[in-house]
Amino acid sequence: MRKTLRLGVMGGTFDPVHYGHLVTAEEALVQFNLDRVVFMPTGRPVRKTHRHVSSSEDRYLMTVIATASNPDFEVSRMEVDRPGDTYTVDTMTALRDTYGGRAELFFITGADAVREILTWKDAARFAGLCTFIAATRPGFELDSPAAGPESEARPAVETMEVPALAISSSDIQLRVRERRPLRYLLPEAVASYIHKNGLYGEPLAG
Ligand code: ATP
Ligand code: MG
Repeated sequence: MRKTLRLGVMGGTFDPVHYGHLVTAEEALVQFNLDRVVFMPTGRPVRKTHRHVSSSEDRYLMTVIATASNPDFEVSRMEVDRPGDTYTVDTMTALRDTYGGRAELFFITGADAVREILTWKDAARFAGLCTFIAATRPGFELDSPAAGPESEARPAVETMEVPALAISSSDIQLRVRERRPLRYLLPEAVASYIHKNGLYGEPLAG
């Protein structure tokens, strides 16, 4: 009988992807013995509608560039190609339908994001669908996750400590605007993509 695939899904806006995301995915891969991690850039993120988000295609391409050298990482277009709002639970349900019993699903997320996801629409639907792997910084305690208001069902949440938690996409965007250094926060090829395409309000060179 074929072995069950242990499939990690790293969801995010990835605007832009940075070493915090990459370190987290790599740690999850090793600590949870995953076979691969699929990066899943969001289509239209429901929680970030109040601010400008780069095009799905730019975020998808930056994620491809950042993960290209790692044979255990891949990038999915599933959410990017789906019209309308993006809900993590719908993505995980679609993956469950695709793989059936052939894969065990793990959703990798920062500890800050896990509580938001689990208090969202249909939190109880996550129970039994996938295990959450929540990245925390050393010494940081994760509160017990909330379930949906109508249900007692609790999704499984495992925690994992990762370094590099202080890096964030919003800080990188600010650095681009203020012309402060990006080096060592994200792969150089992603920084080059940002500059080449004038992302984050950077005036085009010339
Ligand atoms: P923003 O600054 O806009 O919040 P972000 O850096 O958190 O962006 P997202 O694309 O929103 O990037 O994050 C995707 C996932 O990666 C989320 O689960 C988030 O918690 C996690 N994450 C983000 N930054 C880090 C980091 N430095 N270390 C570990 N996990 C992170
Ligand atoms: Mg964030």
